[in-house]
Amino acid sequence: MAKTKNKHIKYIFVVGGVMSGVGKGITTSSIGKILQSRGLHVTAFKIDPYINVDAGTMNPTEHGEVFVLKDGYETDQDMGNYERFLNIELSRDNYMTTGMVYKSVIERERNLEYAGKCVQVVPHIPLEVIARIKKTTKKDGADVAIIEVGGTVGEYENILFLEAIRMMKIESPEDVITVMVSYIPTPSTIGEMKTKPTQHAVRTLNGTGVQPDIIVARASRPLDEKRKEKIAVFCSVRKEDVISAPDVESIYDVPLNFEKDHLSAILFHKLGLKMRRENGTLKEWEKIVKRIHSAEGGVHIGIVGKYFKTGDYVLSDAYISVIEALKHAACKVGRKAILTWIDSTDFEEDPKKLAELEQYDGIIIPGGFGKRGIEGKLAVIRYCRLKKLPYFGLCYGMQLLVVEYARDVLKLKDAHSTEVNPATVYPVVDIMPEQKENMRKKNYGATMRLGHYEAKIIAKTLAREAYGKESVLERHRHRYEVNPEYVDDLKKGGLIFSATSPDGVLMEIAELPKKRHPFFLATQFHPEFQSSLLHPHPLFVAFLKACMKKQ
Ligand code: GLN
Repeated sequence: MAKTKNKHIKYIFVVGGVMSGVGKGITTSSIGKILQSRGLHVTAFKIDPYINVDAGTMNPTEHGEVFVLKDGYETDQDMGNYERFLNIELSRDNYMTTGMVYKSVIERERNLEYAGKCVQVVPHIPLEVIARIKKTTKKDGADVAIIEVGGTVGEYENILFLEAIRMMKIESPEDVITVMVSYIPTPSTIGEMKTKPTQHAVRTLNGTGVQPDIIVARASRPLDEKRKEKIAVFCSVRKEDVISAPDVESIYDVPLNFEKDHLSAILFHKLGLKMRRENGTLKEWEKIVKRIHSAEGGVHIGIVGKYFKTGDYVLSDAYISVIEALKHAACKVGRKAILTWIDSTDFEEDPKKLAELEQYDGIIIPGGFGKRGIEGKLAVIRYCRLKKLPYFGLCYGMQLLVVEYARDVLKLKDAHSTEVNPATVYPVVDIMPEQKENMRKKNYGATMRLGHYEAKIIAKTLAREAYGKESVLERHRHRYEVNPEYVDDLKKGGLIFSATSPDGVLMEIAELPKKRHPFFLATQFHPEFQSSLLHPHPLFVAFLKACMKKQ
């Protein structure tokens, strides 16, 4: 950990203008990356302005993936981007919601910690936000913290967080800067980039007492000089401080693009730091990104789930870490990952459709909850098993593999997970006793096995071959487990449990031996949460290699 005692820690706030969904998270991560490449220790924060205390209770169709941190905290998918770009491990202290902040202020008031004062929304809520940011940045040993404020300026919800920026800037103007990520549309009828929405967004931000120091201009194309000038004049920034951020083929291009506009030099200058030479981090990054672009040929993966459709719109945000992990592994094996979203209910309506799976090189069933589409998923797993099509199951994808195996190989008719059929005669996947107690108390926020747990990997298995080691830490998010009472029967039936908890009670990986199937493996944990471009997850790499063999 770096010494933080006598140095000025710097804070970069990232806010959104015009509209959401234009890449604030990737901007935050990329700023971190370029600062790391100049030798700074970086940490990152996400502030979500909703009342939910964490993201665990939110439906992924509404908010995208729930990303699980090593300490088990359930957070926003942007935290995953920070970890993937920056190769750092964040904790619950790097995440904040309105609900969480209010909760701690109220608890503190009940504890008489405000010494009889009237506790007010302003300043006490922003002060709590500031205190959390400062404390955690120090704990993380960072030189600079990058704090992404969720939502867009002008929303009622994030006003108190903008207030925190304003207050911090008054306190130490030389240590705090604000980056606004804005959107520059090109209306098809005009064919020209329009900066007016950005001008309005800056004015709205100004209304909260905050002036952006840098504007990252997201647009379909690179910004021309004229547009940069316009933004500069009307938004009171220097032309150099308008950074062009065109659409990219890969999100991993973004740090490299930022450097084309000299963003790290601008940041160093604004923060009053002496510019340092690139330390090789970005060179290495560039080399890998080149591999993404030069990949020849694709690997076709079918991802079978249920969260995909909202109307005509395919919502893949719910599986962002799975998508990225596939991209990382594809880059490693020199291919492009071509993903197709498959709704498992299709196979329930028309079982003949299963034959269409043959067109893919491999199938993934990712994590999920509830009853819908389960018989379709079981049919897919059976198809993969019998047709020797590479199959990789993640969490629910492992539990269902066990259900399918129990039904079809052990002949335990209607075996099930008690999540789907609580009355099944063969509960091969069941809730653990301590989770049952939490459920009984309706304490749903705490009923899962969450975060890092150790798994011991058995020698001479696919898993061991992939990892090359006998102990790993992987992230979990589930209530149910393979029922220990059925483990012996499943093993006798030919299923291998190639990883278990250190005490051998909980099954962590299930697989079929290589001589029976090229790749039929599933994990109780979520390996996708620990994959990054620089360190692709070994199980994803092994899966893609098996898929390539099928080709
Ligand atoms: N629904 C299953 C459970 O709660 C699996 C969860 C998941 O896939 N993340 O155990």
